[in-house]
Amino acid sequence: MSSLTLGVDVGGTKVLGIVLRDGVVVDSHRVATPHDDQRPAGDATTEAVYAVINELRARHDHDDLVVGVGLPGMMSREGVLAFAPNLPTASGADVATALAAYDPQLRVLCENDADCAAVAEHRLGAGRGYDDMIMITLGTGIGGGIISQGELLRGRSGFAGEVGHMVVDAAGPRCPCGSRGCWERFASGGGVGRLAREAASAGRLPLLVAQCGDAESVRGEDVTRAAAAGVEEAIAVMDEVGWWLALGLANLTAILDTGHFVIGGGLSEASQLLLPSAQRHLESLVEGSSARPPITVVKSQFGEISGAIGAALLARERLG
Ligand SMILES: [Zn+2]
Repeated sequence: MSSLTLGVDVGGTKVLGIVLRDGVVVDSHRVATPHDDQRPAGDATTEAVYAVINELRARHDHDDLVVGVGLPGMMSREGVLAFAPNLPTASGADVATALAAYDPQLRVLCENDADCAAVAEHRLGAGRGYDDMIMITLGTGIGGGIISQGELLRGRSGFAGEVGHMVVDAAGPRCPCGSRGCWERFASGGGVGRLAREAASAGRLPLLVAQCGDAESVRGEDVTRAAAAGVEEAIAVMDEVGWWLALGLANLTAILDTGHFVIGGGLSEASQLLLPSAQRHLESLVEGSSARPPITVVKSQFGEISGAIGAALLARERLG
């Protein structure tokens, strides 16, 4: 018999669970994220998380179990998902307490998903050896996890690192959080689609519009795929996304003097174009570039599973 460490990452489309043993993922299980708004906040989410936990723990003999759960949104120090603009059906939920109703013996730690990803990359991945780094996850929105002086920065209430809702254009498009012009409206997966449709409507994507039928049908994936295939007009849109990404990184650098950015999430799959573009623009956008040591922008090592790995690591670190 042995101890079992599980990490579960709740995203906008899937709930992914992994088994972490000696820093290595040895098993995984995923289900679709439910979006049931007829039940109390978080009920459907908790049910899906519990199903993933049960599946994984049944597969592995153990006499000790801890579970880390990464959730998208503002996580309080008490483990409550206080506000979740991109998962509104779970906004306000206390998932750990709800899981205890299913199984009072279960030892669970809940943390912000990007904070979890930051811990995974810092301890084991593309951020190893860096005391000051920021994890940026580019998915439906933008998540952030800040490692400062080797420690996860949590802030007064636990809400530090909500970098996606840093306003970069006060007159910009509306965000699900209620504000306008948040960074994630420009540099996330959703942001690429929006910038692409804007470019298409302005006549800057004639090839893609011809392929997709009309300007409104051009999606972010069409642009990233065409850019990867070398289509100039799509590369230009990706460079625009790279500029917006760099703008946020420059703001973060001005506040925190970060030397290393690790970029993860679905959009980072387009990283061959996006990251060099962001790195180049960052040099011109950041204050006093020539006076600073070089700032590095790299792709995450664990990709879409970094959140689940970090959730498992944090659960072991904090729950023993
Ligand atoms: Zn916002």
